[in-house]
Amino acid sequence: MDLGLSPEQTAVRRLAEDFVAREITPYAVAWDRAEEVDRGIVRKLGDVGFLGLTIPEEYGGSGGGHLAYCLVTEELGRGDSSVRGIVSVSLGLVAKTIAAWGDEDQKRTWLPRLAAGDALGCFGLTEPGTGSDAGNLATRAVRDAATGTYVINGGKMFITNGTWADIVLLFARTNDTPGHRGVSAFLVPADTPGLTRRAIHGKLGLRGQATAELVLEDVRVPGSAMLGPEGKGFAVAMSALAKGRMSVAAGCVGIAQAALDSAVRYAGEREQFGRSIASYQLVQELISDIAVDVDAARLLTWRVADLIDRGEEFATAASKAKLYASEAAVRAANNALQVFGGYGYIDEYPVGKLLRDARVMTLYEGTSQIQKLIIGRALTGVSAF
Ligand code: FAD
Repeated sequence: MDLGLSPEQTAVRRLAEDFVAREITPYAVAWDRAEEVDRGIVRKLGDVGFLGLTIPEEYGGSGGGHLAYCLVTEELGRGDSSVRGIVSVSLGLVAKTIAAWGDEDQKRTWLPRLAAGDALGCFGLTEPGTGSDAGNLATRAVRDAATGTYVINGGKMFITNGTWADIVLLFARTNDTPGHRGVSAFLVPADTPGLTRRAIHGKLGLRGQATAELVLEDVRVPGSAMLGPEGKGFAVAMSALAKGRMSVAAGCVGIAQAALDSAVRYAGEREQFGRSIASYQLVQELISDIAVDVDAARLLTWRVADLIDRGEEFATAASKAKLYASEAAVRAANNALQVFGGYGYIDEYPVGKLLRDARVMTLYEGTSQIQKLIIGRALTGVSAF
């Protein structure tokens, strides 16, 4: 087993570090306060190739393996989780799913634009009444036999990139037979008549991100908008989320690493009782707990990338990494805040934002409880959902 990085992977990580230091870190607090990331960042992420990682070059992507994708995601998460989430959704959940399930037309139409940052994608699964039980969604797509089009009605909730997106990867029920998981996936351009979007404000964290509620009223799409076979939409969604969980985990590693860097720096600068607080054993305990969380979360996450790149089964490992890394990121940010004392509570210092941004990681792409049910099912063979 080789846990080192290749020269190419080291170069990608450096590129990401430089990009984050130049284009993200100086603005992250202002974006958080304004509740809006500068939209120009999308094009910059496309120009540097970060929106096309793992997408084949023939479709405008920048190629590379999943470990390179993890390294970039970690650096983005270290800089600003709002920006990290823009990439995790548009590339991780949308472009990669089109690359895996799309026909030639769908790939040629969307992948070059998504990879370049000319278009942004969002992933529409959750609904107001359906969160963890995602397969039970109520949005319906009814086929009009005369024209071969589908008419979609329903609503989606908490959709990252929702108000910015050009394309919605949307999941809707196409078969109403009781007990039948007849869900299909559709690629719906965001400007399709009948699709309206409402921004959701007042989030605890990821405040720079454009999160939205989508309302669909008689939205009509051609049959060619279906992604993957009819009735296989739940499989499409679950395959997207399995890989997406690796991306969330990598973002959490970035948060935990930022917490560690901040805590070490501050502990060395702050003096109380006539000595640096770094000299106190209880402060060192806080810092060493963060450091162990960073290493453990990173190794679990890299293992998922390695399994994917070797073409092996990775879904349970992705749930373990996402579960551990998200809980670790919350712990790490909270420990770092303790090292900062009262200053940690003020947003001029970085750790409060890290804690707010970390908190949602234990909720989305499957809550911690849902990850435990996935891991438990894999181990026992019994579904406890
Ligand atoms: P619920 O499912 O109602 O869960 C409430 C509680 O019950 C949780 O603690 C949960 O763990 C627990 N629970 C539920 N079922 C069980 C069970 N069987 N056993 C034990 N405990 C259980 N969704 C998208 O589709 N696209 C996005 O881009 C997206 N972005 C998001 C961005 C943000 C900022 C947020 C907050 C959410 C986003 N989501 C998105 C939605 C997210 O995936 C859901 O919030 C999440 O799946 C949980 O669903 P819920 O909020 O309805 O909670």
